Amino acid sequence: MITANIKAMLTAIVGQENYDDSKAERLVYSYDATPQFQSMPDAVMAPRNTKEVAEIVKVCNEHKIPLVPRGSGTNLCAGTCPTEGGIVLLFKHMNQILEIDEENLTVTVQPGVITLDMINAIEEKGLFYPPDPSSMKISTIGGNINENSGGLRGLKYGVTRDYVIALEIVLANGDIIRTGGKLAKDVAGYDLTRLFVGSEGTLGIITEATLKLVPMPETKKTMLALYQDIDAAARSVSKIIANKIIPTTLEFLDKATLEVVEDFAKVGLPTDVEAVLLIEQDGALEVVDRDIQKIAELCKTENAVSVEIAQSVEHATALATARRSALSALARLKPTTILEDATVPRSEIAKMVRAINDIAAKYDVKICTFGHAGDGNLHPTCPTDSRNHDEIERVEKAFAEIFEKAVELGGTITGEHGVGVMKAPYLELKLGQEGIAAMQGIKKAFDPNNIMNPGKVFAKESRKRVVVTK
Ligand SMILES: Cc1cc2nc3c(=O)[nH]c(=O)nc-3n(C[C@H](O)[C@H](O)[C@H](O)COP(=O)(O)OP(=O)(O)OC[C@H]3O[C@@H](n4cnc5c(N)ncnc54)[C@H](O)[C@@H]3O)c2cc1C
Repeated sequence: MITANIKAMLTAIVGQENYDDSKAERLVYSYDATPQFQSMPDAVMAPRNTKEVAEIVKVCNEHKIPLVPRGSGTNLCAGTCPTEGGIVLLFKHMNQILEIDEENLTVTVQPGVITLDMINAIEEKGLFYPPDPSSMKISTIGGNINENSGGLRGLKYGVTRDYVIALEIVLANGDIIRTGGKLAKDVAGYDLTRLFVGSEGTLGIITEATLKLVPMPETKKTMLALYQDIDAAARSVSKIIANKIIPTTLEFLDKATLEVVEDFAKVGLPTDVEAVLLIEQDGALEVVDRDIQKIAELCKTENAVSVEIAQSVEHATALATARRSALSALARLKPTTILEDATVPRSEIAKMVRAINDIAAKYDVKICTFGHAGDGNLHPTCPTDSRNHDEIERVEKAFAEIFEKAVELGGTITGEHGVGVMKAPYLELKLGQEGIAAMQGIKKAFDPNNIMNPGKVFAKESRKRVVVTK
């Protein structure tokens, strides 16, 4: 509880204008992009620098007040929902690009920088930061790092983790540490940088990050391969990789998603096919031309009914933008949209998509599937209505079965959206009790008073034992 005395200490750190415990403000930060989760914080604070963050953390640690660091709140796992009250920490004042270092190919930023703003600033210098979550217009780098976000370019270039090389972190006791550096090589002790990437605000607060950049690829080309058969699309994915071509993007959209996205984006996507692969390759001109021709041939051999190469940059951009808008398009269908990210080895994609369709039919719910086929990261998405309790119960059972199936196929319960509150009950499916105990040990070592985003990652009860009628 925040007493008048504690409130006085906290406002003395950030100033009256950066401490707000009005009901209206608390309501705004009581939820994030995740449907069906809401709970009130006690206050919302916006520190102006690392020193202020450290001072806030010291007060909270002493008085055992939960701290929920929050970027733009676009996470889809209730990761910034203040389930145990406490303080929501905003980084709206800590949103500067501190340096673009063209010699070391790095960018150093504060956590509140919007991802796309940083990407645009980097691209102006002819450099490239590949991780491109579809939410990049709104998401922050602090959020991307803490969810280890991926994007459409993940197949070839990897995810956020692969670009974070140094961090400044405020630990739960208020200590400020720096990990890594502008270094290609660094093996000085445990790799704390990697530990904090994807830690969902549960181990400490990131106040600065240095990210690796690469030179901008010379050119890129985009194509669509259309299929009347999901297996043929999945086989094409495996065939392309087996032919030693790693495209930048290899995205899958099923018929249900195509219809909704085309209705929303109107870019000429076909709606009379069962599946589409959106494929992009970048690099040197000759390589891109050669790869795109080869990919087209491979898709045709695998029974693509048609292969279309975008003839202009504008058309290519429109196709990629349409794919990025899939969630927004699906969200228009019903009051509640539940988007998941079950992930399987690439070779199991067709099996997984078929299983999702069977599970949806079994529970009589609509599930549209799209996702990053190249890296096996699928987004089964259910347009539903949280007021319809009977349907929501069936949706939950369907997703529980989808996660079980993903793990059974050698996959995972989340490929990029994180665990938060939403996936916590399923974590045991993936890690087992021993794996969870190992992670709890790390959490206790860094945050013995459990003030850092409590209630996330570790569930009070596991859903592993939920009986799913088969
Ligand atoms: C339309 C839409 C499309 C999306 N597309 C993608 C996609 O393509 N790929 C993908 O991976 N995700 C995607 N997401 C999910 C989401 O956008 C990402 O997880 C994103 O990285 C979250 O950024 P954020 O700034 O909104 O962070 P928030 O949601 O505010 O926070 C995310 C997590 O980071 C923690 N956190 C934030 N800042 C800090 C900090 N400074 N220190 C410590 N912890 C911190 C929070 O406590 C929380 O646990 C999408 C979401 C939406 C709504």
